[in-house]
Amino acid sequence: MFQGVNASDGIGIGVARVAVEPDLSFEPKAVEDTAAEQARYEAARDRFIEMTDKQIESMTARGLVAEAGIMGAHKEFAEDDGLIEQINGEIAGGTCAEAAVKAAYDMYYDMFSAMEDELFRERAADIADVRTGLLAFLLGQELVDLSSLPENSIVVVSELTPSMTADIDKEHVAAIVTETGGRTSHAAIICRALEIPAVLSVDGATTSIPAGANVIVDGAKGIVLVDPSSQDLADYKAKVMKLAADKAALEAFRGVATKTADGIEKLLVANIGSPKDAEGALDNDCEGVGLFRSEFLFMDAQELPSEEEQFQAYKKVAEMMNGKPVIIRTLDVGGDKEIPYMDLPKEENPFLGYRAIRYCLDNPEEYKVQLRALLRASAFGDVKIMVPLVTCIDEIRNVKALVEECKAELDERGVKYNPDIEVGTMVETPAASLIADVLAAECDFFSIGTNDLIGYTMCADRGQDKVAYLYNPYQPAVLRSLQRIIGEANKAGILAGMCGEAAADPLFIPVLIGFGLDEFSVSAPSILKARRIISQWTKAEADALIEKIMCLKTDEEVKEVLVASAK
Ligand code: PEP
Ligand code: MG
Repeated sequence: MFQGVNASDGIGIGVARVAVEPDLSFEPKAVEDTAAEQARYEAARDRFIEMTDKQIESMTARGLVAEAGIMGAHKEFAEDDGLIEQINGEIAGGTCAEAAVKAAYDMYYDMFSAMEDELFRERAADIADVRTGLLAFLLGQELVDLSSLPENSIVVVSELTPSMTADIDKEHVAAIVTETGGRTSHAAIICRALEIPAVLSVDGATTSIPAGANVIVDGAKGIVLVDPSSQDLADYKAKVMKLAADKAALEAFRGVATKTADGIEKLLVANIGSPKDAEGALDNDCEGVGLFRSEFLFMDAQELPSEEEQFQAYKKVAEMMNGKPVIIRTLDVGGDKEIPYMDLPKEENPFLGYRAIRYCLDNPEEYKVQLRALLRASAFGDVKIMVPLVTCIDEIRNVKALVEECKAELDERGVKYNPDIEVGTMVETPAASLIADVLAAECDFFSIGTNDLIGYTMCADRGQDKVAYLYNPYQPAVLRSLQRIIGEANKAGILAGMCGEAAADPLFIPVLIGFGLDEFSVSAPSILKARRIISQWTKAEADALIEKIMCLKTDEEVKEVLVASAK
């Protein structure tokens, strides 16, 4: 049994598909039987085309038209007559197939990546993918293609990157196991959004879990069983049935308003990282988007996304939400969110350094690209701007001033936007909590980021296991901070929201009702569960719970009361 980080609940039972980066190193050698070598190249090409055809079929069946189009381009680059002729010519001269393929595709890769036009530059990545595929097959390596997997696949990878998840075949993936990432890492957030059970940070998973082994992944407990006993298998199959029954019971909360037991309306919205996640959020009956982590667009690109690219992504979500609120957080780079091509300086304390709004305000022209894209998207829905890592009022004032500059620029271009677009504060630092009254007076809404607020308040890194005992929302210091932030928002008459993971914690929801939280922003699979819990509590009951816990001195005592009070 392997223990890792419990990143995404649920149980997956299936067969391990271990995706290791293929080792494409080879020693070029001279060949004599050139006809046989050309046949080897042809066989690798046929396999690659067969694999690509399957991907296109699977993507088309899932309605992933754009993705299928990219695969179509892969096929064209593999079947290109000019390339085939060039490679066969090299082989005829005595070069081995690996060296001939590499030289030809390297040449095209360099040519495309040097082009001015962005569209051509993007094709370079496709050429690199075809080169990898052909070389892997020539070298007898297996490629695990996450976009077309057999049913009940347990995907075992070293690291789960946003681009891997972009085309992951959700229907056929029973669970994911990785070697890196904590509970609030982006890999974990993605798995929860896709509702795929996941255990992260399993040391040596790709080498210790054999490909083809039968595996059980218990996402809630963070354990992975390889070649389980028949007893374990039977127990887990029973648990899967129970989870399915629980899920079916939640259907009663679909399509109904989110209200406390005494009828106070709450807003129940979703955390997303991409337009694709928005589909999952709508499938789970969200009432809008409370946090669109825009940095995923940046992480998934090779260079800063243009105003047009950002606009298209924001507009897509705004249109999908059809008038429901969509809060988009501006670039939250740094800390645990690295964007390699941005080349931010290495720091001793990256969580306290040059990141998020600090970086953006220091690079206003770059930031304005995003602000203009957000403003343009606001003409297509109820888009709101949220500022991450705020610590002082100047940051909000400066963002608002830049928004005004962008409005003037769009006016000049004759482009439409919502002139009353709201600008809100992500309250995720102790400083923002302490000046919540000042911030509330000058911004349009709050959304509390407990993932960071807990970390900064308790001085406990959200990804560090050894201090995990300090990192929870039941800590008296955190409770006082939350009570203060929500109270100030209520007093100022602005929306008090929360988009950190604590908003979905079943034990914590009544505490948030008691504090007066208006908006709960949670990952897609938590929406119906949160609606059910909210419906079980009256404000008076939640207030009584607050009375009980706010005088307690330790997180353990608080948790004990919350467990005992849970409905
Ligand atoms: C948070 O800090 O609570 C939050 C929602 O943002 P992220 O997890 O992306 O830092
Ligand atoms: Mg944060």
